Amino acid sequence: MNKVVFFKDIEKLSEALSTFDISRFKDESVLVKLHMGEVKNKFFIRPSFVREVVQELLHVGASPFLYDTTVLYNSPRKLVSGYKKVASLHGFNKRKIGCPVEIDDEGIDVEIEGNNFEVGKTLHYQSHIICLSHVKGHIATGMGGAIKNFGMGGVTRNTKKMIHDGSKPVFKKEACKYCGVCAEVCPFNAIKVENDSWKVIPRSCFGCGVCVENCPHDALSFVKDNLQYLLACSTKACVEKKHVLYINDINRIADSCDCDSFAKNTLCEDIGYCVSLDPVAVDHASLKLIDEVKKDVFQKTHHVDPYKQIRFGEQIGLGSTEYELIKL
Ligand code: SF4
Ligand code: SF4
Repeated sequence: MNKVVFFKDIEKLSEALSTFDISRFKDESVLVKLHMGEVKNKFFIRPSFVREVVQELLHVGASPFLYDTTVLYNSPRKLVSGYKKVASLHGFNKRKIGCPVEIDDEGIDVEIEGNNFEVGKTLHYQSHIICLSHVKGHIATGMGGAIKNFGMGGVTRNTKKMIHDGSKPVFKKEACKYCGVCAEVCPFNAIKVENDSWKVIPRSCFGCGVCVENCPHDALSFVKDNLQYLLACSTKACVEKKHVLYINDINRIADSCDCDSFAKNTLCEDIGYCVSLDPVAVDHASLKLIDEVKKDVFQKTHHVDPYKQIRFGEQIGLGSTEYELIKL
């Protein structure tokens, strides 16, 4: 049966990793996938924790490097050079972490469930991977963890755009009751509803799909598909047939994602860390542990069910919610 190992104290990292026989990374080049934080974001994964993981890999004779892809929106991280500068400012450089940093903006097509995803080129050709994910709130998925880390972070800007464009709303006039719920929940104020008029401001719509999820009258549908479904498929494109160990950092659980310069608050107390060989299991366990402390906090904050990405992941064979939770 699948395992998820949970620990609170960083001192237990070695023990947690040995549960999954980290020695199988010996003599391997190991890609460490992580988000190194948007400019001014203060909640992203701690370089000190990443260094600990890198040291564990070096200790077993692996050759790790940190890895991420360029972003879609306006930011220095849109370019490889800009992302490297931001990463270094945030403490992700060879001197502080002990291994190189690589940022990708090229991709290789992988087809999953009838959709094409451009997986980061280096990631595509890598057999051994550690997925380090900071668990936090997210406007489009409720929660961002391992599935979000690969689903959006492991693919090119083209595919990021395809996922967002595919999650924009299509309006069905005949079904609309002009109740205004979609306008209320849109995080970007992109929808205007007045009397019997409904319109979306295209330049303001980011394609988060929250309006579609919340319409009580089925008057909205997705251009392509649910964003959480596309993310689960995209993750599968990144990790299929590879040896991946997932580590979720469930601390500094911010209201918004590491891409958000304006993320302000934490939503609940620090929880700890989860480790697994299964992206669905590690995200499911992280959500359940958060639910024990603050039930439905992501749903209440973002009007999105964060378990959808888990259910879609199971549906397409990405992983399973059947696992044993081992608490160290
Ligand atoms: S939530 Fe649905 S029914 Fe209500 S205004 Fe929006 S599209 Fe129309
Ligand atoms: S997809 Fe998101 S940003 Fe676009 S209109 Fe709907 S809720 Fe607003």
